[in-house]
Amino acid sequence: SDRSAAAVRRQFLEYFEERGHRVVPSSPVFPQDDPTLLFTNAGMNQFKDVFLGTGTRDYTRAADTQKCIRVSGKHNDLEEVGVDTYHHTFFEMLGNWSFGDYFKRDAIVWAWELLTEKWGLPKDRLWVTVFGGDEADGLPADEEAEELWKTLTDIDHSHVLRFGKGDNFWEMGDTGPCGPCSEIHIDRGEPGSDPMVGADPVAGVNAGNERFIELWNLVFMQFNRMDDGSLKPLPAKSVDTGMGFERVLSVLQGKLSNYDTDLFTPIFERLTAIVGHRYGGSAGEKDIAFRVIADHVRAVSCAFADGALPSNVGRGYVLRRLIRRAARFGRQALGIEQPFLTDLVPTVSKVLGQAFPEVSARIEHIQLLVRSEEEAFGATLGRGLVRFEELAGKVGASGKGSIAGKEAFELYATYGFPRDLVDLMARERGLSVDQAEWDAAESAHQDASRSEGKFTQLLSAEQLDGLPATESTYHQSRAGSGHRSGDGS
Ligand code: ATP
Ligand code: MG
Ligand code: MG
Ligand code: MG
Repeated sequence: SDRSAAAVRRQFLEYFEERGHRVVPSSPVFPQDDPTLLFTNAGMNQFKDVFLGTGTRDYTRAADTQKCIRVSGKHNDLEEVGVDTYHHTFFEMLGNWSFGDYFKRDAIVWAWELLTEKWGLPKDRLWVTVFGGDEADGLPADEEAEELWKTLTDIDHSHVLRFGKGDNFWEMGDTGPCGPCSEIHIDRGEPGSDPMVGADPVAGVNAGNERFIELWNLVFMQFNRMDDGSLKPLPAKSVDTGMGFERVLSVLQGKLSNYDTDLFTPIFERLTAIVGHRYGGSAGEKDIAFRVIADHVRAVSCAFADGALPSNVGRGYVLRRLIRRAARFGRQALGIEQPFLTDLVPTVSKVLGQAFPEVSARIEHIQLLVRSEEEAFGATLGRGLVRFEELAGKVGASGKGSIAGKEAFELYATYGFPRDLVDLMARERGLSVDQAEWDAAESAHQDASRSEGKFTQLLSAEQLDGLPATESTYHQSRAGSGHRSGDGS
């Protein structure tokens, strides 16, 4: 059957629609009224009020594909991106929810059935984790979930493992809805060998290696984490699941990397046309650059389509940092001297526009923002790289491993290199940056734009609607039939 990105996304939504779920649209990549989050980091964000009991919907089961960005706060994957092949800054999280309706039993049975029967994933390669309890929170192990896995599914019982709070107690942020969870991981095997040969499978789950990846998290929402750290029971028991779309797609397409799926290959083809170099899927500098660039251009395109604007603080600065990071990889690893990210935007729109029509509707707007960001940084990027080489060379010759924070900070103040980028460049050379010195230099340098405030720099809904639509194909996706009520009450 069809295993294209569009088909798999549809298959997921249809599967849950058939089981009484309302298919709803993704919310924007930044939460509307939540001061605890810069970016939407999970599918459940748009339902936070329902879990807390402060809002309602006219349905008790929902499913969607949610645009997520994980580059800040509790969930920050920036340093993984491009280095590995399964963490993105921007990704889609497929999810199904029960609001006080079904609980662990149905969530587990349906997840297993979809993966192993509808999609035919090999059962002997799947591993499941359950919450092993936590003393500090006074919570017991989730024996109920463990039992359900062993009695209601045909998973090998030795493949059901217990893990602690770090992996199996899901929290949105420092406060807010949370609960024990049960996750499904897949053993993709050592490349080219039998899946069970090699590393100890039990030790591989949650070990952060490329062989075992986490596919799907089933969260049993039961608590609200309060400001003082205590857990308060939620008014109703709910289910919140999240599956990494790019990850499950890679598995279904028989690939070992998310970047080898049809969500990324068109972007790589376009980039190849620009740089004349082909992506090779390796851990080498050029291939990392390809992955970082494709990842970051997806993230900023979706954020700009949703009305974010680049700025020097908060959310807007996160996006500016992504563009500068991508530009640096383009210049240093691929030798691109001119703005190029903007040329990838139409391809991003081709890849994501069907699921997220706001991206295709606003191509020109996105391109304008990306181009002006690239041009602004392009003016100092080359000189900054030269200056960095001087600093790194000096430190290397001195035998010390650390670049003085004051000099490193100059790369930010004079050449616009974000701190995370300077740190990354130092790491690439086996060096570090003296962080305390950077902090001191930074507070000495009064940043006038700081008063802008963390959560400003968004286009209003009216301004967004006023943008010229650039494609006549602007249409509501089939997910667009969802109806929300009780928002922000
Ligand atoms: P991991 O342990 O791999 O970092 P996670 O436990 O942080 O994942 P969850 O918060 O449980 O992730 O999110 C639900 C699902 O979303 C995960 O099971 C995974 O498939 C997917 N996912 C999480 N982070 C990313 C990311 N940065 N890029 C792509 N997919 C992701
Ligand atoms: Mg993670
Ligand atoms: Mg995890
Ligand atoms: Mg998880």
